[in-house]
Amino acid sequence: AREFRLASRPTGYPTREDFTLAEVAVPEPGPGQILVRNRYLSVDPYMRGRMNAGESYIAPFEVGEPLEGGAVGEVVASGSDEFAVGDAVWHFLGWREYALVDASAAQRLDAPSSHYLGILGMPGLTAYVGLVGIAPVRAGDTVFVSGAAGAVGAAAGQIARRLGAGRVVGSAGSPEKVRLLVEEFGFDAAFDYHDGDLAGQLREAAPDGVDVYFDNVGGEHLEAALEVANAHARFALCGWISGYNTEPVGVRNLGLVVGKRVTLRGYLVRDHEEEYGEAFRRDVSAWLSDGGLKYRETITDGFENTPGAFIGLLRGENVGKAVVAL
Ligand code: NDP
Repeated sequence: AREFRLASRPTGYPTREDFTLAEVAVPEPGPGQILVRNRYLSVDPYMRGRMNAGESYIAPFEVGEPLEGGAVGEVVASGSDEFAVGDAVWHFLGWREYALVDASAAQRLDAPSSHYLGILGMPGLTAYVGLVGIAPVRAGDTVFVSGAAGAVGAAAGQIARRLGAGRVVGSAGSPEKVRLLVEEFGFDAAFDYHDGDLAGQLREAAPDGVDVYFDNVGGEHLEAALEVANAHARFALCGWISGYNTEPVGVRNLGLVVGKRVTLRGYLVRDHEEEYGEAFRRDVSAWLSDGGLKYRETITDGFENTPGAFIGLLRGENVGKAVVAL
């Protein structure tokens, strides 16, 4: 069996050389453990942060050690009464073909579906929590979502609509993504941030101003959103991807928060599973089945291509949730 290890801490954008592919024996499950054959691996932006040394909200990956992350697979051997061979599970030992998982750290699924890494999993919950709990959407609001064609962003724009937003606008990194936002995901307007003048483009897309900003990007996007914000706007600060691979850009107009009385609130989805998990699963399942929520993924085939899928995600090569199929 194969697993990916961190070969070196990346400087700037990661490269293929920052990862080693190692061959290991397939382990036997002991009491209370299960052996899972992984079917889908998640690659996520936060993993880039774990590749840096230093203290954060989650421990750094160690050089020479296997990487980890969300994964979906099937139980192939069980030392636990709770799981049988053939059960589909979610667990956190991705970046490897076979995972030896403590039964207490696995969640049973109804099917080994990649959707549990995306819309029905952590990214979907992140979008939901941001707009229900962190920066609540009210009927008629104008909602701006950055990183809008990605896993969290595409869900956020559509969830905003379902929560009653009057106007939903988004930004993304290519003309194709901008078209998709409007034609597939139902955004009212969208723009490509590579065209520059973010505040000008945002003002045109949101002529009545922004009431709620769902921020996946930080930096200049946050600056533009502050400029176009209405009084008492709510901002959910979800991510800062503009600074994950390069020096973060500061926000020059933070002072606008005072006069406009903006609420800025950062959050981590893991703090909110207990409070919102059940409502999220109920609402999102209903919206998916009534067609009011469209879902896209970018699936990379082949375990050996996992680093490439991760690097591609950071470079914007994905539309919707990036996953690897084994
Ligand atoms: P995405 O599917 O959105 O993939 C990342 C996207 O980021 C790329 O496709 C790319 O799209 C965009 N991007 C890359 N570099 C830049 C840049 N410099 N400026 C603007 N956009 C850029 O990933 P996720 O949906 O999984 O994550 C989105 C955000 O949400 C991330 O910031 C992530 O860290 C955060 N997050 C936070 C959580 C929390 O608990 N707070 C939980 C989960 C995610 P493009 O082509 O548009 O540039």
